[in-house]
Amino acid sequence: MAVATLRLGDLGLEGWSRAGDESWFRVHPPGLALDAGRGAQELAGAGDLFLTHGHLDHALGVPFVLSQRSLHRLDATRVFCPAPAVEDLRALIEAAARLEELRYAYSLRGLASGERVEVGRDLAIEAFAVDHGVAALGYHLVRRRRRLAAELRGLPGAEVAQRRRRGETVDEELEELWLTYPGDTGPGVFALEPRLFESRLLLIECTFLAEEHRERGAAYRHLHLEDLVERQESFRNEAVVLVHLSRRHRPAELLRRAQERLPALAGRLHVFPPADE
Ligand SMILES: [Zn+2]
Ligand SMILES: [Zn+2]
Repeated sequence: MAVATLRLGDLGLEGWSRAGDESWFRVHPPGLALDAGRGAQELAGAGDLFLTHGHLDHALGVPFVLSQRSLHRLDATRVFCPAPAVEDLRALIEAAARLEELRYAYSLRGLASGERVEVGRDLAIEAFAVDHGVAALGYHLVRRRRRLAAELRGLPGAEVAQRRRRGETVDEELEELWLTYPGDTGPGVFALEPRLFESRLLLIECTFLAEEHRERGAAYRHLHLEDLVERQESFRNEAVVLVHLSRRHRPAELLRRAQERLPALAGRLHVFPPADE
């Protein structure tokens, strides 16, 4: 199956995303998976898998990933999903394990909006509510960073080092949204989670493009390019990556239209998979 990659500063993305086909991403660091598509070999390296919702273009790959990881005797996988989807997802996974006469090593935990999971040194995933009809969550990758406390800035380095040795607190911690992925969502997400405009990297769906499909976004709880156009002045992100494009269009067509219609995002706009796919 097809795999694309994209480098965004310190963060690497690997995956695939087309509406009605499949969507999955691996995020490096920390190597976790956002959605599982229909199952890709590249997902087998992910110890943590965050599922946005149960539509099969995102969820069918969950048992495949667990099967692959179990075959390779990798550590138990932590799977997270929207809380209302837990029992059905567990039934899907367990049915697959019985068919294979295997035991998958995994844990499954349902999340609610606002819940956090630690996913690495100084990294956490935070869930948020989105607008997609079925039980669905978006995810922020939150990075904690330490810097010299504001009141100590300007002091000589030796003085700071001495205070540190004395056991005084010289650092302050700050948090930033490093990456935000709402998964599938209609335009209601902008009111539900306005912090997505502030995240450094935004991976956002843009399923519909054509003028005649303007009504579909709202009806199917997906985004249309014009939903982004209306709000283009609000995006503070360093990069905005458009994903989940309908199979009616080629990524190159999306990139061209988006560049025309989103001048406020000039130099910050990407499509994934890239336009040459
Ligand atoms: Zn989808
Ligand atoms: Zn969906």
